[in-house]
Amino acid sequence: MKSIYDKKDLEKFLEKQGYGHRELRRARRLLFREFEPLESIPESEKVLPALEKNFKASFLKLISRMDSNIDGATKLLFETYDGKQIETVILRINTGRTSICVSSQVGCSEKCTFCATGAMGFLRNLSYSEILDQIVHAGRILREENRKLRNIVFMGMGEPLRNYTNLEKSLELLLDGSAFQFAHKFITISSSGLPDLMLKFSKRFPQVGVALSLNAADDETRVQVMPVNDKFPMKVLRETLEEIEDVRQSGVMIEYIMFKDVNDSLQDAKKVAEFLRGLDVHINLIPYNPDLSDVKGFFASNPEDIIAFQDYLKDEGYKVTRRFSLGQDIAAACGQLANNETIEK
Ligand code: SF4
Repeated sequence: MKSIYDKKDLEKFLEKQGYGHRELRRARRLLFREFEPLESIPESEKVLPALEKNFKASFLKLISRMDSNIDGATKLLFETYDGKQIETVILRINTGRTSICVSSQVGCSEKCTFCATGAMGFLRNLSYSEILDQIVHAGRILREENRKLRNIVFMGMGEPLRNYTNLEKSLELLLDGSAFQFAHKFITISSSGLPDLMLKFSKRFPQVGVALSLNAADDETRVQVMPVNDKFPMKVLRETLEEIEDVRQSGVMIEYIMFKDVNDSLQDAKKVAEFLRGLDVHINLIPYNPDLSDVKGFFASNPEDIIAFQDYLKDEGYKVTRRFSLGQDIAAACGQLANNETIEK
């Protein structure tokens, strides 16, 4: 059966059935903006029962939902058609903004040593329909709360650029003014640092946010936390950032997870400042989530060290923010997305 997220097939089908522009618009609005499940569309909506019979509209089964007791995070655990499990996180920020952290793969091939998903290994890429289904499920939950989904970040399970084709297809529909209609600037993809793919993506979607997970100040440290650095060392990343800056219409986000006694000294801050000198970047310092640190051997930096690190970079003229990591009590924070069943295998 065809995917409901294949807009061309959807339009072709509706046109063939004799539906006009009005019905087409209505179908798109109900499905992609109001996140209405096909089965709950009233009979009076004559266009949609026809769709239900001809299109597959659900690609993930929601098997559990965990709401944080301490902040506005919700972790959704989904099962795929082949029995795999993936996680998606809704982040309700105090300001009223709502973000969703989307997974792009089951597991991940990058094996970052601090990351729960990396410990799973790579199982498979998610299809574009599975990527979009995470957004639709979250959109339905938020709709019931009268909240609107604004930001989409591809920072869940997986390296999104390793699943380029499905990432591209899902973004095309997310950005399409006659489908999901999200603003370019409110979507960000995060990469572990794959130069060619980062550049290719930046050329294809110059207005979509790009984040580089830097997480270390020198090659020696970076290769320990992110093995991908062996193949693409920081010198190559620096050249890539320069090339990306030439094609993008805004700067790149630099993400820096702070690990106690690994990458959080003032000497490290100095090296980061030197590495990024002259680039249009925004640095986001992310406190490492301590919940899994005894498993991984990483520990959270002291808050005062993070502040000193931030102050140093600010004094050097950088835009630097500290991310408040939501969802710590439900293992939904950075580097923690992995269902336990899979980790234990
Ligand atoms: S941090 Fe990202 S790229 Fe690295 S293993 Fe985890 S999911 Fe993969």
